[in-house]
Amino acid sequence: MKGRILRSLGSAAALALVVAGAPLLAQGGTAGPNDADLMNDAASTGDVLTYGMGPQAQRFSTLKQIDTSNVAKLVPAFASSLGGEKQRGQEAQPIVYDGTIYVTGSYSRVFAFDARTGEEKWQYDARLPEAIMPCCDVVNRGAAIYGDKIIFATLDARIVALNRNTGKVVWNKQIADYKEGYSATAAPIIVKGMVITGNSGGEFGVVGAVEARDVNTGELIWHRPVIEGHMGTLRGKDNGITGKTNASWQGDLWKTGGGATWLGGTYDPETNLLFFGTGNPAPWNSHLRPGDNLYTSSTLAIDPDTGLIKWHYQTTPHDGWDFDGVNEFIPFDATIKGKPMKLGAKADRNGYFYILDRTNGKFISASKFVMQTTWADGINPKTGRPNYIEAGRPPAPGTEKGKPVFASPSFLGGKNWMPMAYSHDTGLFYIPSNDWGMDIWNEGIAYKKGAAYLGAGFTIKPIADDHIGVLRAMDPRTGKIMWEYKNKAPLWGGVLTTGGNLVFTGTPEGYLKAFDAKTGQELWKFQTGSGVVGSPVTWEQDGEQYVAVMSGWGGAVPLWGGEVAKSFKDINQGGALWVFKLAK
Ligand code: CA
Ligand code: CA
Repeated sequence: MKGRILRSLGSAAALALVVAGAPLLAQGGTAGPNDADLMNDAASTGDVLTYGMGPQAQRFSTLKQIDTSNVAKLVPAFASSLGGEKQRGQEAQPIVYDGTIYVTGSYSRVFAFDARTGEEKWQYDARLPEAIMPCCDVVNRGAAIYGDKIIFATLDARIVALNRNTGKVVWNKQIADYKEGYSATAAPIIVKGMVITGNSGGEFGVVGAVEARDVNTGELIWHRPVIEGHMGTLRGKDNGITGKTNASWQGDLWKTGGGATWLGGTYDPETNLLFFGTGNPAPWNSHLRPGDNLYTSSTLAIDPDTGLIKWHYQTTPHDGWDFDGVNEFIPFDATIKGKPMKLGAKADRNGYFYILDRTNGKFISASKFVMQTTWADGINPKTGRPNYIEAGRPPAPGTEKGKPVFASPSFLGGKNWMPMAYSHDTGLFYIPSNDWGMDIWNEGIAYKKGAAYLGAGFTIKPIADDHIGVLRAMDPRTGKIMWEYKNKAPLWGGVLTTGGNLVFTGTPEGYLKAFDAKTGQELWKFQTGSGVVGSPVTWEQDGEQYVAVMSGWGGAVPLWGGEVAKSFKDINQGGALWVFKLAK
């Protein structure tokens, strides 16, 4: 039928069709990943197409060529430099497709490297204005791939689509105004042909939002602010106010309420829900904004077709410590008390590991995964709310700065941005966590556009003699910690787990390390030359299993780590992609 129509159109039209399709195939060889490929990413071992190695972001690969018996023989295949003087905070997760590794670098850069040789194919540098205001270093956490495009977010709060074969810009759109304190560092996710992103800027009194754009044009499809009182949109029309205006905020405070969705989200095809965490309410000083301050410090389930919020769960109502709540919510299935359930897990900055029913947001359990929580004594299983310890909240300031209190975890969290992994084989979550505290006090503050909006001061300090970082294996069915590996410096990189009974993560001291997933025994390490704060991935290529990770120290710890930062000030900067395979 199709052939007959083409013939009837005549040879000129048919020729035009062939020519139009030619450039793509000539340059790339394939049309590129589609929606189905992205949804199947966790099962397809020959590529890494999504942030999290699957839309659910479990960071689990079934590959088992590299296992506990041979991981000691892992050696570098190559390393590729990110070059230039812009060497700090390489927090990206690589994307691997059709013989190319795509990574983002600090200062909003993208690189394409040959996956067999490490040779650079192209590099894209976003032209950033001088006045950008990233709170927590010039990092970027990774790109998305779709068709012939690579898509990533920039520090001046834009989203850019590049041709994946040439690195040339296809479209470039503004998410929000960087002059108001907005920025963007998260890896976008792609669902049903839409690029879904959040925003950063919670320290500047911005309004957190999640939005969806057409992947081919960058045109906005829907926009959903996550602070109650703000209007959402769908295809250019009003689509309902978020929550109920002034239900949990007083006066006009919701207009600068924070709740930045700065870590991006996950997607669960089974329930057709997007899960986005929201950041701290603004300002940090909780006495200036009575109420629960919805939907800050929460997990939100959002309908990708409409941008409407289907459920919410707030981990830290009326947050007074910048515990934030952006940590990734990872869908998984398990049997709880004899009942098979669709669940989701989140290791929150506040120090508790939450399990929710992901179909409706209902609280299932919460267990402490850090040494100390001075601000709450457990989570009430009936209400799902923290049992607050009132003395743990920094008091209201008088005319001068308020009295400091010691709080643990510190505001950098029991776990910060660095993603955990979930193994289908062991049924355990592997959480990159930190044991540390802070002195925190409140101060007066008034909102001023584009200026820091904290009303608080702080000094982070260690709480243990021998460690800050701890990689913890947590059983989500019992809330028990099955093993832990302690690290001197704070852990700040993502985790990968594999069918070879392995767990990989990096350290600021410069190592990529491999552990036995069942016992936590350290089996291998490699010194990359700078701190590892990126997220490792694995894939299969030409019959061999590869592991890759970014190296390059930076992120929030050296900027905000107080006494902790001083101890690790001698760690060298860097910027390299390291790729490993088994020695022959
Ligand atoms: Ca894959
Ligand atoms: Ca924050």
